[in-house]
Amino acid sequence: MPHMPVPPLSLRQMILRPWLLAALAALASAALLLAASVGLNLQQTRQNESAHMNAQGKRFLERLEQVFGELRQGVDTLQAQPLRGCDGAMKAALQDVGLGSRFIYEAAYVHGQVACSNRGGERVIEPQRVADIQGPTYSYWLNTSTEPNDNLAALMLGRGRFLVSTSRGHLTDVVDLPAGGSLLVVLDHGKRAIPVLGPPQQWPPTQPWPPASQKPLVELGDRLMYRMATRSPDYQLVLIAPRTRLPLKLDGPLWLLFPGSVVLACLIGWLVLQLIQQRRSMSAELQSALRRGELQVLYQPIFELASRRCVGAEALVRWRRHDGSLTSPELFIPLAENTGQIRQITDFVLQRVLEQLGPLLRSNRQLYISVNLAACDVMAPRIGRVAARLLARHRVSATQIAFEVTERGLIDVVVARENLQALRASGHQVLIDDFGTGYCSLSYLQTLPVDCLKIDKAFIDALGHDAASSGVAPHIIRMAHSLHLRVIAEGIESEGQAVLLTSEGVNYGQGWLFAHPLSARQFIGLIARGRRMGQQRLDDEP
Ligand code: C2E
Ligand code: MG
Ligand code: MG
Repeated sequence: MPHMPVPPLSLRQMILRPWLLAALAALASAALLLAASVGLNLQQTRQNESAHMNAQGKRFLERLEQVFGELRQGVDTLQAQPLRGCDGAMKAALQDVGLGSRFIYEAAYVHGQVACSNRGGERVIEPQRVADIQGPTYSYWLNTSTEPNDNLAALMLGRGRFLVSTSRGHLTDVVDLPAGGSLLVVLDHGKRAIPVLGPPQQWPPTQPWPPASQKPLVELGDRLMYRMATRSPDYQLVLIAPRTRLPLKLDGPLWLLFPGSVVLACLIGWLVLQLIQQRRSMSAELQSALRRGELQVLYQPIFELASRRCVGAEALVRWRRHDGSLTSPELFIPLAENTGQIRQITDFVLQRVLEQLGPLLRSNRQLYISVNLAACDVMAPRIGRVAARLLARHRVSATQIAFEVTERGLIDVVVARENLQALRASGHQVLIDDFGTGYCSLSYLQTLPVDCLKIDKAFIDALGHDAASSGVAPHIIRMAHSLHLRVIAEGIESEGQAVLLTSEGVNYGQGWLFAHPLSARQFIGLIARGRRMGQQRLDDEP
């Protein structure tokens, strides 16, 4: 038997294969998840770094104030006692101060050639240069380092003829200054910076000084700077440290990210596959629903508001499965629009309207039924031909079938305008459905061949409330009147809304206040009773 040639798959068909789409979704989500987790990790590292710097800065400041506090106390004690000169009593006094303080490393008396310290004859600290800070009472030397051993280099404080000093080690023991980092004391409003610890730094680190940012932690590209206000307005403490290279630490939970991302991505791929298959099966189900007659058409009456007389109805499709469950058109109409099955549905609705209501329409020539069109129905002249054929078969006038199009349905205005014009030329009315939810402006509306606007339920709901949209309906009504268009209000649920709309000049309305969507039998019954709404509202669904 000869084989049928298999047509090659188009690129679109290849790409739209469910498993390929699922794999692409899985890959994309895996890449996204990994990138997000790496990004998060880097951000976390940076935050840790900043928090570390903050903590170090605070500890430095505390210790520095503590150390200088003791140094001040030491020189104050020496200054207060009466001894001057370098006798045994003085040496004992110096020793007392040294022993009585945790931080004082050397206490000395220096006056010209006369000098002695608590360390006996060993050494006497002596300032090599003028004080870094010369206050009214105290002189501060922040870095007197000439020592090969960095820890012995001193912070020194002077008052009168007395000097006390401490080891720099008392600062470094509270924090680990990173290699290349420095602790600086900033003087003269930022003009000078003396490194207390670590190497000198390029100064000022920001132009201008102080940096515009009020935050204590400033990022300087390759370095971090932490500014500390001190109790004295004359100087500030600044900690500068090079930024770590931020290596991505793949320890602990981060290792779990890779298998975690892969598992999650597989799950997403699987879900996508299910979703595609579900959509496919729903569209297949819809196809068999059309064949098996599971689709029904209901009719929601439209009333003249003043007289409460029924002037027509809107045809609304329903999908009632054999098991009795109902699928909302809001769910399957968009799907049918995507798959193109909507054309079949529109044809079905038109056919059903004329089959069920043909005799009614023939005997009530003023009555009309309005049928919803989808975007693709408006984009081709097909629907006009289908309607003409059915109308001729059922001997119903084209004026009795109206078509509703939404603003969203007018994708290509030029083509839509042409087709709508053709429908009107055949005698149909054209309505804009859900008006107000799209972007139609007055000037745009002027160019469209339409007879009537249906105001969306959302704006009817807002009527009489303080909501921002409460003014939309009155505005649309004025706009429609100025263009000589009729207005139908949809979704009227209360008498108050009906009265308000009538006072605004709206002539027609539909909604649960008057009637739910009715079966053909119920609708025919309503018309037979004189087209008027009875005392009791008719209920929907047979
Ligand atoms: P739509 O054309 O704006 O239809 C009005 C919807 O509002 C209908 O919902 C109707 O049942 C509902 N409704 C009417 N009065 C009230 C009321 O007072 N309160 C509330 N809460 N709702 C009210 P339904 O039948 O579920 O239809 C939903 C949408 O599905 C329709 O909106 C229309 O866009 C689409 N649709 C329905 N049938 C067809 C059809 O045959 N073809 C096409 N293309 N679309 C259809
Ligand atoms: Mg409609
Ligand atoms: Mg509507």
